[in-house]
Amino acid sequence: MVTGGAGFLGSHLCGRLVVAGHDVLCIDSFHTGCRSGIAHLLGRPNFELIEHDITMPLEVEVDEIYNLACPASPVHYRQDPVRTTRTSVLGAITVLELARRTGAKILQASTSEVYGDPQQHPQTEDYWGHVNPIGPRSCYDEGKRCAETLFFDYHRQHDLRIRVMRIFNTYGPKMQANDGRVISNFIVQALLGNDITIYGDGSQTRSFCYVDDLIDGMIRMMNAPDDVTGPVNVGNPDEVTIRDLAKLVIELAGSRSRTVFRPLPENDPLQRRPDIRRARTELGWEPTVTLEEGLERTVSWFEPLTAKRPVHAPQER
Ligand code: UDP
Repeated sequence: MVTGGAGFLGSHLCGRLVVAGHDVLCIDSFHTGCRSGIAHLLGRPNFELIEHDITMPLEVEVDEIYNLACPASPVHYRQDPVRTTRTSVLGAITVLELARRTGAKILQASTSEVYGDPQQHPQTEDYWGHVNPIGPRSCYDEGKRCAETLFFDYHRQHDLRIRVMRIFNTYGPKMQANDGRVISNFIVQALLGNDITIYGDGSQTRSFCYVDDLIDGMIRMMNAPDDVTGPVNVGNPDEVTIRDLAKLVIELAGSRSRTVFRPLPENDPLQRRPDIRRARTELGWEPTVTLEEGLERTVSWFEPLTAKRPVHAPQER
C-alpha cells in the first residue's frame, strides 16, 4: 500500500512496485495528488486505486505500507496548514493502527525539514534540528516530526516493524509545474523564456536528488532487515546554491531568461545537505545520477508540456 500514491514520489514508487510484480494498492485523497501521474497504471491487474483521506480510518489487508501522504511543497502545505498537520499526525495514526492490526511493515516518508534551518552542517540523523514551532513552515515540519515520534512510540510500545526515512529535496519528471518548487519553477520559467525568480540573494543551498535514486533508496529501506528502523537520510549530498542552480537550468534549457531577485520567504533554511553515511552502510545505497544528468532528463520531460499549451505560471510564495 502506498499512501499519497498519486503524488510526485508516490506515482514513481507505485510504477516501480507494479513493474516489479507487487500487488499495489494506491491510496490518495487527490488533495494535491494528480490522476495523470498514475493513469498509465490503472488498467494493470496488479494495481488498485482507492480515493481516501488517511485522516479517516482505513480497513484493508496489506503487508507493506509506504506512508507518503502529505502535501510536500511549501506552496501546497501552506495553503491549508491545519489540514497539513492533520494529514501528518492523524494520517500517521491511521496507518500505524493498520500496521498494528495487519502486522505489516511500515515506512514513513519523513523529511529533511525535521532539521529546520540547521545549525549543524551537513545534517546527520542524530542532529535534533532547529525548527520554529509557530512559523509558516511549522505545519509541515512539526507535523512530520510528530509523525516520527508516533512511529518510534508504536515501535517501542507495540513492536511495530518501522522504517523512517528522511527525504531531502528530490526532483524529476512528473513534478507539478505549478507546485512552486525551485526546480519546476526554474525549468518552466526557462522554457517559456520568462524571468527566473531567485528568492533572497540565491546564496542559500540545497542538495537535489534525482527521483529514480530516491525511489531506489526507499525500496531498499523497506526491504532492509527489521533492525534498520532509521531514521536514515536519503538524498544527494551534492550541494548547490540556488543562484548556481538557476545558471545551470538556463544553460541546459538553452534559454535566454534573465534572473530576478524576490524576497526570501520567512524561515527558508539557508543551507541543507544530507550526511548519507548511514544510508551507505545500512542500505548499501548512494545516488548515481548527477545534478546535470537529472536536470537534462527533467528539462526533456517538461519541454513538450510547455510547447503544447500554456502551463499555469509557476507559483510564487
Ligand atoms: N526558490 C527560489 N525560487 C523559486 C522557488 C524556490 O529561489 O521560484 C528557493 C526557495 O526560497 C528555497 C529553495 O529555492 O530557498 C528551495 O525551495 P523549494 O520550495 O524547492 O524547497 P524547500 O527546500 O524550501 O522545501
